[in-house]
Amino acid sequence: MSDQPGYARILADKFDYTNTYYDREPRFDFTAAHPEAYGSYDFILSADVIEHIAPPVERALEEACRLLKPHGILGITVFCHPSDQLREHFPDLSQYRVVPLGDGMVLINRRADGTLEICDDLIFHGGKTVPQMEFQNVYLGSAADWAASDITFIDRAITLAMRDKRMNNVMVQYFPGTSLACDPRPSLALDETKPTQLDEPDVQATVIALYDSGQIKKTSLGSTIFNLVLPPGTILRLGASSSLHGLGGYHGSVHINRGGKRRTLYYSANVYSQMLSATKENGITVFNKPWKNVVATLYHELNEFRTDADVNDAIQTGSNDALGWTSRAGQECGDQPIFAAQSLSLVFKEVTATGSTKKIPLQFMYSNAVHGAEGPIAQPPLG
Ligand SMILES: [Zn+2]
Repeated sequence: MSDQPGYARILADKFDYTNTYYDREPRFDFTAAHPEAYGSYDFILSADVIEHIAPPVERALEEACRLLKPHGILGITVFCHPSDQLREHFPDLSQYRVVPLGDGMVLINRRADGTLEICDDLIFHGGKTVPQMEFQNVYLGSAADWAASDITFIDRAITLAMRDKRMNNVMVQYFPGTSLACDPRPSLALDETKPTQLDEPDVQATVIALYDSGQIKKTSLGSTIFNLVLPPGTILRLGASSSLHGLGGYHGSVHINRGGKRRTLYYSANVYSQMLSATKENGITVFNKPWKNVVATLYHELNEFRTDADVNDAIQTGSNDALGWTSRAGQECGDQPIFAAQSLSLVFKEVTATGSTKKIPLQFMYSNAVHGAEGPIAQPPLG
């Protein structure tokens, strides 16, 4: 079953041998029954396959035994290392189906306890990622619109979150061979009339104006994101989407030409998520304090920036090559947990900062290692 070409060639040379595949011809699924071939093989090799199949594994082992002649040999290799812990790839499969969604396929599973799980792992498309990044929070509106404590709490918590060892243990799987770093720049509070609403062209114009007026440093722009934090009550829009209907924030980039040079400015826009009245919600309100919701949104956008910085280029050019880590359905690391959670309180949590007693409000990110949202973990996942 799916041997490496290097030794499949040698085996084909020496024996009557067929290399088979799960996803192309010659196809072979050894979790299905093949009565026509029972008792006909001298040897079967299963190279790094059985750890990827749907449980129960016995079904495949029994089928392999039925395919063998009496005294035939089954050779199995499984990827492992002495330090490995057991990590089942699909431990909860019960009733499941692989369904087409967008350009690809998504695994949908109803667990034994009746809850739904959607497996839509992130794939790397080759675009830009930013393992060593900086950020600067920019508070829109004026001092009159902000409680000073909100600004202090937001700045402090997002810095802790982005630098937290156990949260970064979830994210390092998307940055093989490099370490993560995140440095804050001193935050900036603007002095302007509070905007009623902001669409993406307004967000881009704001960031360009900050650049042109010299309010933001012009160094390391390629690895820095400017986070516009909307004041209480300001509505965020993204085309037809609105913070009055579930939009909490987004991130993107804009290209400018200055002095014959092309510059890219990276930004995010973040709603001051709160209930405007008993029934009217602006943004995504999960925590009891708006500043906590802002931190969770910032955490979402900053992680998406570092895993998929140039998503706007991909959308504008219609080419996936600029994408970093996204699912086949186009979701980034922060999106699927919101989409799939039965209740947002399952993925928006206050976690204790590593080596501290401080609590950080944040949103869990998607982890390929567990096919779902994952919170703080003591060790990075195994490959
Ligand atoms: Zn997102």
